[in-house]
Amino acid sequence: MKGFAVARAYILNHHTPTVEHSRIQSEEEAERELSAFQEAGRRVMKEIREEMAKSPSPDALAILESQLFMIDDPDFRGRVEGYIREGHRRAAWAVESAEGEIVEALSRLRSDSFRERISDIEDVSSRLIASITRSGHGGPVIQDSSVLIADYLLPSEFLSLDLSLVKAIVLEKGGLTSHVAILSRAEGVPCLTSASSATRLVRKGSLVAFDGDEGAIYIDPDDEVLERIRAGLSGSADTDTSLPAITLDGVEIAVEANIEDARSIEAVKRSGASGIGLFRTEFLLMGGHGSDQVYSQVAEKMKGCGDVCFRTYDIGGDKMVDGISENEENPVLGYRAVRLCMDRKDIFRPQLKAILKASVFGNVRIMFPMISGAGELDEVLSLFEDVKRECRSEGIAFDENIKVGIMIEVPSAAITADILARKVDFFSVGTNDLVQYTLAVDRGNEKIAHLYNRLHPAVLRLLKMTADAADEAGIELGICGEMAGDEMVTPLLVGLGYRNLSMNISSMARVKRLIRNISLADAQALAKRALNMTSYREISNLMEYFHAEIGFDK
Ligand code: PEP
Ligand code: MG
Repeated sequence: MKGFAVARAYILNHHTPTVEHSRIQSEEEAERELSAFQEAGRRVMKEIREEMAKSPSPDALAILESQLFMIDDPDFRGRVEGYIREGHRRAAWAVESAEGEIVEALSRLRSDSFRERISDIEDVSSRLIASITRSGHGGPVIQDSSVLIADYLLPSEFLSLDLSLVKAIVLEKGGLTSHVAILSRAEGVPCLTSASSATRLVRKGSLVAFDGDEGAIYIDPDDEVLERIRAGLSGSADTDTSLPAITLDGVEIAVEANIEDARSIEAVKRSGASGIGLFRTEFLLMGGHGSDQVYSQVAEKMKGCGDVCFRTYDIGGDKMVDGISENEENPVLGYRAVRLCMDRKDIFRPQLKAILKASVFGNVRIMFPMISGAGELDEVLSLFEDVKRECRSEGIAFDENIKVGIMIEVPSAAITADILARKVDFFSVGTNDLVQYTLAVDRGNEKIAHLYNRLHPAVLRLLKMTADAADEAGIELGICGEMAGDEMVTPLLVGLGYRNLSMNISSMARVKRLIRNISLADAQALAKRALNMTSYREISNLMEYFHAEIGFDK
């Protein structure tokens, strides 16, 4: 993302977790650290058992068995718990110290079999420490203004950051549409992805200048670079979101906001957005500040400021939720979104009910993610009807005309959009996933990020098929993937027929300004030309050419 920053580097490498050295201050903290240790023990044991189930080799089985034994070893557990309770130390520190003591004792015994045991102990303890720190008990603890440089960042870790201190984020892994990149854009934190080896090349505490325009970072920058970055920091960014998004020939485009947290409502209202086109509700489960009341509170706060579209839980993929998601070999194609929700009605039904309850407080819509075809959609809609019946029988008021939509983000949904369009009130295209599934390119994998071509002719054809189907059925049509917030492709999307563009607040000013500079007629001609092209490069050049022609600066 564009933006500038200058700050000291904070390094987070999950393979060498940061072990916090501070002492515990209260009984409650000690209890939390103890349960973090126990929870990590359970998680690592589960992981090991899964590895054992897959492992054919007797040697590997023996090693894994001894690791399981080690986690449960009363001597080891006693030492760790002693450090936490009596030594007032944090869980990761306690594990590291207990490991150190046991390793030292074993290395004095001078026997090969004991030496092998040392490597088991080291392995188990680093797994435990990684698990403790990953679970948010020792993740990034940023206390000063910093550029956060990490191998990767989990969405839950992002949510735990103090964003007033994080000036920019640099990630070794992940592409531009990975969830953390999306979250950081939403919060206005400049983020650079696919920066391989960054955690090794940058030293902790060194001064880093971040240049989002160039997509580069400078370590210990010289005066010239610093001056340029500082000029960028005080430079004039596009900030006026209050002006309307109406084309030169008078077509109004609804520019809406994507959010994942109820705390963003005030920012949405200030932004002049026409509503919330995508509320990613699964983040409520990760951030720990979600409850059934949140939906009604959001609806009430947004009353009079446009619709609120709650997308039902899209758990899974890279959005793991403790206690719900499962470790899978292929999570992006696996147990996620409506597939998981239809299997976990214990969490899905309460969410549907909470959204229905919220519908009397404001203009609420509901949207189902990852729909892959009519059969699946029928089942989801039938469950929704059942929850409505339950509300009626319990005397719970809700908007009987609540609009129901689906995300078009699986190619099979785009291909059968004509069938699906007859069953819902609106489509919103999730281009982040649609591109990934159409091109078979993992949206979060930096090694193949260059293949993630959103302007591939196949993607354009699916966008066109979806738009035609929506038009034929007379339903609303929008986009809520990252493409909606990229002004380079706005003319194409408008030309294809998309009238609702939902994006991060930080993209709104530029997209709105672009819309004010084009006509629908030109946008349609552009879309027609693009659809006849054979490669994404050609289409990409066409977009740049169009921008140059209308004099829209980068
Ligand atoms: C998308 O896939 O484009 C989308 C908006 O959903 P998410 O990024 O949450 O997967
Ligand atoms: Mg998606």
